[in-house]
Amino acid sequence: MSWFKRTDKGIQTPTEMKREAPDGLWYQCPNCKKAMHTREHKLNAFTCINCNYHEKIGSEAYFQILFDEGEYTELDENLRSGDPLKFTDTKSYVDRVRATEKKSGLKDAARTAYGKMDELDIVITCMDFSFIGGSMGSVVGEKIARGIDYALKHKMPFLMISKSGGARMMEAGFSLMQMAKTSARLAQLSEAGLPYISLLTDPTTGGVTASYAMLGDFNISEPEALIGFAGPRVIKETIGKELPKGFQTAEFVLDHGFLDFIVDRKDLKDKLASLLKMLQ
Ligand SMILES: [Zn+2]
Repeated sequence: MSWFKRTDKGIQTPTEMKREAPDGLWYQCPNCKKAMHTREHKLNAFTCINCNYHEKIGSEAYFQILFDEGEYTELDENLRSGDPLKFTDTKSYVDRVRATEKKSGLKDAARTAYGKMDELDIVITCMDFSFIGGSMGSVVGEKIARGIDYALKHKMPFLMISKSGGARMMEAGFSLMQMAKTSARLAQLSEAGLPYISLLTDPTTGGVTASYAMLGDFNISEPEALIGFAGPRVIKETIGKELPKGFQTAEFVLDHGFLDFIVDRKDLKDKLASLLKMLQ
């Protein structure tokens, strides 16, 4: 009975036919390698249901997590970067920005929005790492400054969510000026008695750590986030010593008095809301 016999060895299926589930249905945790439904992962605030690894997420995901019913109004959404230095590396800065806009669907590395969080009015500026490494250029600084202006005018608290490689090299000095500009605005917020909470997420480094990310009335972080100013190699060469284990993790800097507390993303909205209610 020839039809009961396998004539070809093995079952030959082209790779593209082998998928059992359509793309995007499963999420594999990069830390513990376990798979879970993307829906389940999203419901869990993009943290792993097995090992609690906090996936890096962008402004839209944070806005959806924090604003009631995910409803918010974005401020200055069309603010875009100029090219004051006519900068070129492997490609021109203008081309790099244009290509990144197309790829990320974003206009720059930060977005500001206001809305209700647990029925409290709040202004949030959140950085996007997918836009040139979350680098702080003139637009990022301006969006933060204008977000603070809005908070001042409407007497609202301000939340900054940082995720950045530091200053944007293509804007050089203009980028560094954003540190002073945002710090000055935050001082005004403080004088007006309005709360400023800074949430540091993985990674927060460079000029961002050296300015607004560390100026909060509360400086808080997500678990295991990398937090630092210079990279470990530079520090090691400067001080000529071995660095301690776990150096530059949120847990380490919390132990050394750099942070007020670490918050699990699943509890973020509740914790922030109760903190702000306490400060009212
Ligand atoms: Zn995991």
